[in-house]
Amino acid sequence: MRFLFIILFFFQILHLKAQVEHNDIRFTHLTGDFYIYTTFNLYKGEKIPANGMYLVTGEGVVLFDTPWDTSQFQPLLDSIQLRHNKKVMICIATHFHDDRSAGLEYYRSKAIKTYTSLLTDELSKKNNKKRAEFLLTKDTVFHVGNYSFETFYPGPGHTQDNIVIWFEKEKILYGACLIKSAEDEDLGYLGDADTKEYANTIHKLQQKCGEPKYIIVGHGDWTNLRSLEHTYEMAKALRKKIGG
Ligand SMILES: [Zn+2]
Repeated sequence: MRFLFIILFFFQILHLKAQVEHNDIRFTHLTGDFYIYTTFNLYKGEKIPANGMYLVTGEGVVLFDTPWDTSQFQPLLDSIQLRHNKKVMICIATHFHDDRSAGLEYYRSKAIKTYTSLLTDELSKKNNKKRAEFLLTKDTVFHVGNYSFETFYPGPGHTQDNIVIWFEKEKILYGACLIKSAEDEDLGYLGDADTKEYANTIHKLQQKCGEPKYIIVGHGDWTNLRSLEHTYEMAKALRKKIGG
């Protein structure tokens, strides 16, 4: 009986794996030259989507975060080449977790300029994660083609090192895992989080960005702009719960 159970369990795992492998990568046009790509991975036996973004410029494509699904590093590059006839030049990962950074070393090997913050690199090194070639020691403005954007560190929250990307002109806030979807019922994985500072960090971000036109969250639906305020409310509730 027990043996049968183990066999069944094994097939269930195979089945889940097959499901993930069939659901490669999803592209969504955000606005203008901005696109969202979504890959999938298993977390606690559940298939979870992870959002990344890319920007198409006259000087090539800028990739924000790498696919979570490690089988999609090259397919993402191929799809971008096919859709836009352009190469990815730059890749910036927003914190050290795999759903942001897993592809950094692969992309470096493809001559893409990879970036993280110095703090992210320290955590990546400590946690045996993939590392970038170039390290940002402070908030940095990039100019690529006709576009400008800023890497901004609002403080610790989802992780110690989470940065966001802010497009002031287009009012696009690429928040990644620091910001939860308006549909989310909790702040998700808090194993590396700063539960006391999370709310202050979100408040700082709100002051910096005012009312963005687009807010890209790390996982799930990004179309509801209440995501930022909703994250703030949840972070405040969490702080209260832990008595901070
Ligand atoms: Zn995440």
